[in-house]
Amino acid sequence: MSLSLALQNLSNSRQEMTQFMVDMLKIKAVNPDVGGKGEYERAIFVQKWLESHGADVSRFDFEDSRVSEGVRVNLTTIIEGADRNKTLWFAAHLDTVPEGARELWNTDPYDPVVKDGKVFGRGSEDNGQAVVSTLFAFKALKTLQTKPTVNVGFAYVSDEETGSKYGVIPMVEKGVFKTQDMAIVPDTGCKDGSEIEVAEKSILWLKITTKGKQVHGALPYKGLNAHRIGMKFALQVDELLHSNYSETDRLFDPPASTFEPTKHELNVDNINTVPGLDVQYFDCRILAKYKLSEVMKDIENAKLKIEKETGARIELTPIQFEENVDPTPVNSVIVQKLRSALKELRGIEGKPIGIGGGTVGLYFRRKGINTAVWSTLDDMAHQPNEYCKLDNIVNDAKVFVHVALN
Ligand SMILES: [Zn+2]
Repeated sequence: MSLSLALQNLSNSRQEMTQFMVDMLKIKAVNPDVGGKGEYERAIFVQKWLESHGADVSRFDFEDSRVSEGVRVNLTTIIEGADRNKTLWFAAHLDTVPEGARELWNTDPYDPVVKDGKVFGRGSEDNGQAVVSTLFAFKALKTLQTKPTVNVGFAYVSDEETGSKYGVIPMVEKGVFKTQDMAIVPDTGCKDGSEIEVAEKSILWLKITTKGKQVHGALPYKGLNAHRIGMKFALQVDELLHSNYSETDRLFDPPASTFEPTKHELNVDNINTVPGLDVQYFDCRILAKYKLSEVMKDIENAKLKIEKETGARIELTPIQFEENVDPTPVNSVIVQKLRSALKELRGIEGKPIGIGGGTVGLYFRRKGINTAVWSTLDDMAHQPNEYCKLDNIVNDAKVFVHVALN
C-alpha cells in the first residue's frame, strides 16, 4: 500500500525533479582541489530544499582555508524506522569535475539544457542524478504514514572527486555511520541497472624517478642514461608484479590485478642529449586479497637490485595508495534488497560485480558497512556533453523507495 503510493508520487514528480536538476546544475560546484567554486552554495541549496520538505538536517562542516566560505559542507538527514538501531544510507556527492575542453561541448556545461528526455550539463549524471533521485525518494518516504523497517539516512557529501578528505572520510571518523548500517552509493552503474558493485580493487599509483647523469649524446660513456635504466626498471617491475600477483577473482572485469606503465614525463627537449632524469608512472589496480605493502616491498627490492647494478638512484613515490577491503557479501541484506527491487520493478536479475575504479564505497566498507554501489547510468561521467536521463532519475528513485520499504 505505502509502496504503491510512494511509487505513484515519484511518477508524478518527474517535472519537479527535472526542474530541481536544472536549478541545481546552474550552481557550478567544481571541486576546489582543481580550482573550482560553488560546492558550498550547492550544499546550501540542497539543505534548504530538504528543510522545506520537513527534514531535520545535520551539517558536518570541515575547515578548508582554500574556499572563501572557509568550510566544506556535508549534510545528513534521517527518516526514523521501526528499528532505530540500524540505518540504510543513501550517499550522493555534491562536487563535480571541471568541464574539460569547452569546444567539445555542444551546449554551455553550466547552463543545463533539457532535450530528448535528458538533462545536459556538467555534473548531471555524476552525481546530480543520485542527488535528485535520493532527495525525491526522501520526499516520497517522508509523506507516508508507515515507518520504514529501519532508519533511512540520506547523505550529501563534498569532495568525492578528489579523495573525500572533507567529506566521507572525516564523517566516518566522527561516527556518523555505524558498523551495523548498510549503504547504497549511486555512483557507478550500467544502462539497465543490472550491475550491483560489491567490490573494488585497491589502487596504487606509483611515480618512479630515475636519476643518472646527463651528458652529450655523442659521449654517452661519460654519463648515466636515466631513460634506459628507467625503461629497464619499468619492464622488470611489470614482469615481476604480473607473475607475483596473478590470482584472479571472477567478480571483476578483468578478473586479475592490473599493472600498467602509463604516464611518462618529458625528459630532454633535444635528441642529442643523454637524459639524466627519467620520470614515469604505473597505474596498478590490485585485488584486495593482496596487501599493497607487499607489492611495494617487491618493487623496493627490484629497485635496490637495479641501483646496485647500474649506479643510478631510483625514487619511488606513491601518488595514490588506497588499500581496499573484502567485498560486500553477495548474500548481504543490502544486495538482496536491491536485487528484489530490480526484479519487481524492472523484471531483471541484479548481478553483483567488482570494479577497478574507486568510489566512496571504500570508506563505508572499511567501517564494516555492507555497501552496494548502484545506479542506472549511460556512463557519461567526466565526459563532454554529460547528460542524465530523466527516466533514470525517476526509476532509480523508485528502486530506492522499494529498498527502503522492503
Ligand atoms: Zn561521482
